[in-house]
Amino acid sequence: MDHIEEKIIEIIDANRETIIAAGRDIWYHAELGYKEFRTSELFAKAMAGNAETKTGLAITGVKSYLKPKQDGEVRVALMGELDALPISNHKDTNPETGASHCCGHNSQIAGVIGAAIALQDEEVKNALDGNIVFFAVPAEEYVDVEYRRGLMKEGKISYGGGKCELIKCGDLDDIDITVGHHTMPGTDAAVANGTSNGFVNKLVTFRGKASHAAGAPDKGVDALAAASVAMHAIDVQRESFRDSDCVRVHGFISNGGVAMNVIADTATMEYSVRANNIPAYQNASQKFDRAIRAGAVATGAGAEIVTLAGYLPTVPLKDTSVMAEAISDVMQAYNYRNISLDNDCPASTGSTDYGDVSSLMPVYQFNTGGYAGVLHDISAQPVDEELAYVVTAKIFALMGYKLLKNGAENARKTLADYTPKITKEAYVALMDSLTTEETVAMNPIAPLE
Ligand SMILES: [Zn+2]
Ligand SMILES: [Zn+2]
Repeated sequence: MDHIEEKIIEIIDANRETIIAAGRDIWYHAELGYKEFRTSELFAKAMAGNAETKTGLAITGVKSYLKPKQDGEVRVALMGELDALPISNHKDTNPETGASHCCGHNSQIAGVIGAAIALQDEEVKNALDGNIVFFAVPAEEYVDVEYRRGLMKEGKISYGGGKCELIKCGDLDDIDITVGHHTMPGTDAAVANGTSNGFVNKLVTFRGKASHAAGAPDKGVDALAAASVAMHAIDVQRESFRDSDCVRVHGFISNGGVAMNVIADTATMEYSVRANNIPAYQNASQKFDRAIRAGAVATGAGAEIVTLAGYLPTVPLKDTSVMAEAISDVMQAYNYRNISLDNDCPASTGSTDYGDVSSLMPVYQFNTGGYAGVLHDISAQPVDEELAYVVTAKIFALMGYKLLKNGAENARKTLADYTPKITKEAYVALMDSLTTEETVAMNPIAPLE
């Protein structure tokens, strides 16, 4: 490590309690996507020492420039996700929101706050040949879908994912490279450079006709029966999916009726349709819609199929040696041993809106541990705050510095090695084309007199 790198580590060690307090505070005050007002305010306050801070981006996003912006400079975003999950039975659930941080995003925000403390040091700041943008982004978890659909109808957002929305709004236009983090129970630290699935989401409503389920079933049209046929029809599509596309189709009945003795006049379903490439999930999405129509046709119920653009597959980097160096520098001082610095990482069949960012610019990602249990489950729990928050802050800060030191040599190499998958204009056009609505009219057969 050079003198500046040593100084970055020293500053973060000296501010250990502040960083842990931030991670802990956010852990206990989880908020759902596009509603992270408290967390957003906490982050903005922590950015007070920077040159310029913008708030309210894609509703709750915060973007803070370390130094005054200059034309032609390289800008690296250190990014953290503000949102949590609608898991209300975790012992640390925020009672006001019913949300809990079972995906560990609190460690991301704590890490970015800690990195800001170190990079704001005058000597460190002056050693950066470019600018750092500390970015807190909303709504990574694609949940609370009806609420987001409402925001879309009100014209407040276009997409369910926070980074997707920030791209559309132009808030990532002046960023060259992004650095992101995710917690990973069972790991101490790792380079995260695997691809992931992309997806679209489906909101389906079947409309039937209520009737007494025992006294007059012949007078009703059963919306739940339509959903039941549709679910079977979805399942029979599965044999047509290619293994190489890693297609995942999964969901649930969000409303299946009101009572056992009432024929359901409404049934609703929420599904995700995922694959590791865009044509494959577009193809599976068409088969999904066909299965919904089958339910409607077989029962005479009407159907509305709303398709919402989700996230794109992640584009891995060719070379992550800068990230590997940052992780090994930080880990020298610790006894953690479960460290992976491999550039080639396994693909995830889950999804992230870092996929969308990585289609437009280079994205470095890393993992740290410090949590017990399983993500997206009530067993998720921070157990090692040094690893979860402080180590994360150190890696974030070192990445910012390592990319921008020596005339931003590493950042320039990263940019030279990278080819965007899509332009911003084509991205917005693709996302808009993936957002559709279809209506199947009710077609009941008249009941006998
Ligand atoms: Zn998650
Ligand atoms: Zn997550």
